[in-house]
This record gives sequence, C-alpha cells and structure tokens, in this order.
Amino acid sequence: MSDCIFCKIASGEIPAKPVYEDDEILAFPDIQPQRPVHILVIPRRHIDSLAQVGPSDEALLGRMLGVAGRIAEAQGSPDGFRVIINTGPIGGQEVMHLHMHIVGGPEPVGPMLKRN
Ligand code: AMP
Ligand code: ZN
Repeated sequence: MSDCIFCKIASGEIPAKPVYEDDEILAFPDIQPQRPVHILVIPRRHIDSLAQVGPSDEALLGRMLGVAGRIAEAQGSPDGFRVIINTGPIGGQEVMHLHMHIVGGPEPVGPMLKRN
C-alpha cells in the first residue's frame, strides 16, 4: 500500500526507532503517547484491520500477542499492560494498517472504557 504510513515505516521509507523487530513484526513508540509506555506493534505486510484477517493471518496475530509481554517489560511496564486493537470506524481506528497498542505504567492504565 503505497500511501500507508505504517507500510512506509515497515519499509524504512519513514524512519522509526524500533523497540522490537523480526521478519514479520515491527514495534515502535507511538508518536503521541497516551501513557508512559505506549508502543505500536504492526505486521510488516499490510492488513487493513482486525476485521480483514483470515485463517492465514492467525499465526501472525498470535506472534504479535506473544511478543507483547516482552516488549512491555523491556519498555518499563513489567507489572502489566493493556493491549488495544482499534478496529474500523466504530472502534476508532485512524491508521488503516492493523496495529496493536501496548500501553502501560508505571501507574495503572485506568478504566477500560469511559462510561457514556
Ligand atoms: P488508531 O487510532 O488505533 O488507528 O491509532 C493510530 C496511532 O498511530 C495513534 O496513536 C497515533 O498517535 C499513531 N501514529 C500515527 N502516525 C505515527 C507515526 N508516524 N509514528 C508513530 N505513531 C504514529
Ligand atoms: Zn500498510
């Protein structure tokens, strides 16, 4: 996807400071951190959102979750963290390249959702 900002980060066209990377996954700090620890984890290959994944993506999604604890601990949130995957307009997704937010401490992240 030539106009996708996270594809450009994955390809190196836009520089990022990875905190974790492997052949399938890249993790880097959110540009507007909402908590002291706020890392984005993306697949290198473009997938629009969690609503678009299929059976062939399941291993990749599992791997994204599998690295979260290590990333959170290494980034300074060893006592827990929250994973958020905003999906589509209802879920508040702004960047249409599947990504997982890891948000963490040192203090508690807070209530899961604000009550309307
Ligand atoms: P979402 O609302 O789940 O789509 O979140 C998109 C996130 O991407 C927001 O938290 C933005 O701050 C973050 N973001 C957008 N552009 C960049 C960038 N170039 N580098 C790092 N984070 C970004
Ligand atoms: Zn993309």
